[in-house]
Amino acid sequence: MARAICIRCGEERSRALAACTRCGFLPETAHDRARSMVASSQVLGGAQLDAVRAAIEQDREPDLPLPRVLEYMELFDGQAESDPPVRIPPRGCGWLLLCAVLLALLAVVLTA
Ligand SMILES: [Zn+2]
Repeated sequence: MARAICIRCGEERSRALAACTRCGFLPETAHDRARSMVASSQVLGGAQLDAVRAAIEQDREPDLPLPRVLEYMELFDGQAESDPPVRIPPRGCGWLLLCAVLLALLAVVLTA
Protein backbone atom coordinates (compact mmCIF):
# COMPACT_ATOMS: atom_id res chain seq x y z
CA MET A 1 0.00 0.00 0.00
CA ALA A 2 1.23 3.48 -0.82
CA ARG A 3 2.39 5.55 2.13
CA ALA A 4 3.15 9.25 2.23
CA ILE A 5 4.13 11.55 5.06
CA CYS A 6 2.84 15.10 5.39
CA ILE A 7 6.02 17.21 5.32
CA ARG A 8 4.45 19.76 7.68
CA CYS A 9 2.96 17.70 10.52
CA GLY A 10 4.13 14.13 9.87
CA GLU A 11 0.64 12.74 9.42
CA GLU A 12 0.51 9.59 7.31
CA ARG A 13 -1.68 9.52 4.23
CA SER A 14 -2.00 7.45 1.09
CA ARG A 15 -1.41 10.15 -1.54
CA ALA A 16 1.69 12.33 -1.49
CA LEU A 17 0.16 15.35 -3.24
CA ALA A 18 -3.25 15.37 -1.54
CA ALA A 19 -4.19 17.82 1.21
CA CYS A 20 -3.28 16.61 4.69
CA THR A 21 -6.27 15.43 6.69
CA ARG A 22 -4.70 16.56 9.97
CA CYS A 23 -3.17 19.99 9.28
CA GLY A 24 -4.72 20.76 5.89
CA PHE A 25 -1.31 21.31 4.31
CA LEU A 26 -1.48 21.07 0.51
CA PRO A 27 1.89 20.97 -1.29
CA GLU A 28 1.68 23.61 -4.03
CA THR A 29 5.17 24.86 -4.81
CA ALA A 30 7.53 22.66 -6.81
CA HIS A 31 9.74 22.41 -3.71
CA ASP A 32 6.93 21.28 -1.39
CA ARG A 33 5.55 18.88 -3.98
CA ALA A 34 8.99 17.40 -4.58
CA ARG A 35 9.59 16.97 -0.83
CA SER A 36 6.15 15.39 -0.47
CA MET A 37 6.86 12.93 -3.27
CA VAL A 38 10.20 11.97 -1.74
CA ALA A 39 8.54 11.53 1.68
CA SER A 40 6.42 8.72 0.25
CA SER A 41 6.77 5.00 -0.33
CA GLN A 42 7.47 5.71 -4.01
CA VAL A 43 10.95 6.84 -3.02
CA LEU A 44 11.70 5.81 0.56
CA GLY A 45 11.46 2.48 2.35
CA GLY A 46 9.28 1.90 5.40
CA ALA A 47 12.04 2.49 7.96
CA GLN A 48 13.13 5.69 6.21
CA LEU A 49 9.54 6.93 6.15
CA ASP A 50 9.27 6.24 9.87
CA ALA A 51 12.44 8.29 10.41
CA VAL A 52 11.07 11.16 8.30
CA ARG A 53 7.83 11.10 10.24
CA ALA A 54 9.64 11.03 13.60
CA ALA A 55 11.83 13.97 12.55
CA ILE A 56 8.85 16.11 11.49
CA GLU A 57 6.93 15.26 14.65
CA GLN A 58 9.95 16.29 16.72
CA ASP A 59 10.21 19.55 14.76
CA ARG A 60 13.47 18.53 13.14
CA GLU A 61 14.34 18.80 9.46
CA PRO A 62 13.61 15.38 7.91
CA ASP A 63 16.53 13.71 6.17
CA LEU A 64 15.21 13.60 2.60
CA PRO A 65 17.67 12.55 -0.12
CA LEU A 66 18.47 15.83 -1.90
CA PRO A 67 19.15 14.35 -5.35
CA ARG A 68 15.67 12.83 -5.40
CA VAL A 69 14.09 16.11 -4.21
CA LEU A 70 15.90 17.98 -7.00
CA GLU A 71 14.83 15.35 -9.50
CA TYR A 72 11.17 15.82 -8.60
CA MET A 73 11.54 19.61 -8.47
CA GLU A 74 12.81 19.56 -12.02
CA LEU A 75 9.85 17.42 -13.00
CA PHE A 76 7.30 19.72 -11.34
CA ASP A 77 9.06 22.89 -12.51
CA GLY A 78 9.02 21.57 -16.06
CA GLN A 79 5.30 20.91 -15.81
CA ALA A 80 4.62 24.39 -14.53
CA GLU A 81 6.72 26.14 -17.16
CA SER A 82 5.90 24.29 -20.33
CA ASP A 83 2.61 25.86 -21.34
CA PRO A 84 1.40 24.28 -23.55
CA PRO A 85 3.07 21.09 -22.38
CA VAL A 86 5.49 19.45 -24.77
CA ARG A 87 3.79 16.32 -26.03
CA ILE A 88 5.49 13.32 -27.46
CA PRO A 89 3.77 12.66 -30.80
CA PRO A 90 1.74 9.47 -30.85
CA ARG A 91 3.16 6.50 -32.71
CA GLY A 92 0.86 7.04 -35.73
CA CYS A 93 2.68 10.29 -36.56
CA GLY A 94 5.81 8.41 -37.50
CA TRP A 95 3.94 6.51 -40.18
CA LEU A 96 2.30 9.67 -41.52
CA LEU A 97 5.70 11.31 -41.72
CA LEU A 98 7.17 8.27 -43.47
CA CYS A 99 4.33 8.26 -46.00
CA ALA A 100 4.78 11.97 -46.63
CA VAL A 101 8.52 11.47 -47.23
CA LEU A 102 7.85 8.55 -49.59
CA LEU A 103 5.24 10.57 -51.52
CA ALA A 104 7.69 13.47 -51.79
CA LEU A 105 10.39 11.14 -53.08
CA LEU A 106 7.96 9.63 -55.56
CA ALA A 107 7.04 13.11 -56.77
CA VAL A 108 10.72 13.99 -57.20
CA VAL A 109 11.34 10.77 -59.15
CA LEU A 110 8.28 11.25 -61.39
CA THR A 111 9.02 14.88 -62.21
CA ALA A 112 12.74 14.29 -62.85
ZN1 LIG B 1 -0.21 17.59 7.87
